[in-house]
Amino acid sequence: MPYLINPFTTLGNWIYPSICPRCRLAVNKEEGLCKGCRQDLSLNDSSCPRCSIPSTGGLICGRCLNAQSPLSESKIPFLYRPPLVKLIHRYKYRKELPLARTLGRLFINGTPTLDHTATDLLVPVPLHPSRIRERGFNQSVELARYIGKQLDLPVTTRAVKRIRATPPQAALPLVKRRFNIRGAFCCPEPLSVKSVAIIDDVVTSGATVEALGECLKKSGVETVKVWALARA
Ligand SMILES: [Zn+2]
Ligand SMILES: [Zn+2]
Repeated sequence: MPYLINPFTTLGNWIYPSICPRCRLAVNKEEGLCKGCRQDLSLNDSSCPRCSIPSTGGLICGRCLNAQSPLSESKIPFLYRPPLVKLIHRYKYRKELPLARTLGRLFINGTPTLDHTATDLLVPVPLHPSRIRERGFNQSVELARYIGKQLDLPVTTRAVKRIRATPPQAALPLVKRRFNIRGAFCCPEPLSVKSVAIIDDVVTSGATVEALGECLKKSGVETVKVWALARA
């Protein structure tokens, strides 16, 4: 009921005004960033519907046209450019966990065509336990928890396991990424849901989400889509 003002949210904003995490101006909690900072984000508004790589006229890209992909669609509203790069770095590497809320809000507000009623389950991209020990948390899990709470969708961290520690994808040239990630995931049990959205912060080559998608399809999921914040 968007026409009703929630007195608790309004009161909460008044007692504890939110601050834009980029410029420190006061901001409505429902916006994530202030208007000026939001206008500085690069929109991924013309992209392949399946993998979200920027494409002319939003047409399906050559790779998706020619290759078999386990993914039916991707919703990635922003490009991985400043100032989003710095916000994601602060979240991921400087462990500013409240930014999960900001980034989750940007994703939801930036994706008005999100078909969340046709989605049964959110699956954040798992990290290998050794990477979780090193970083202290999984950025995709926190993001998925916020998005799940807002859209009333369940989140699972048990459906898929990362069974192999792989070198960070970002450190590898594009051609090696697909090889690097192969066999990195396994689904321990069959899944009885129809439609799953994989949650990630940044999608670079798409190799990770494709490997995860293959795994989910093998375990019985009919439709696998990707919801991420930024496309590199
Ligand atoms: Zn700002
Ligand atoms: Zn594509």
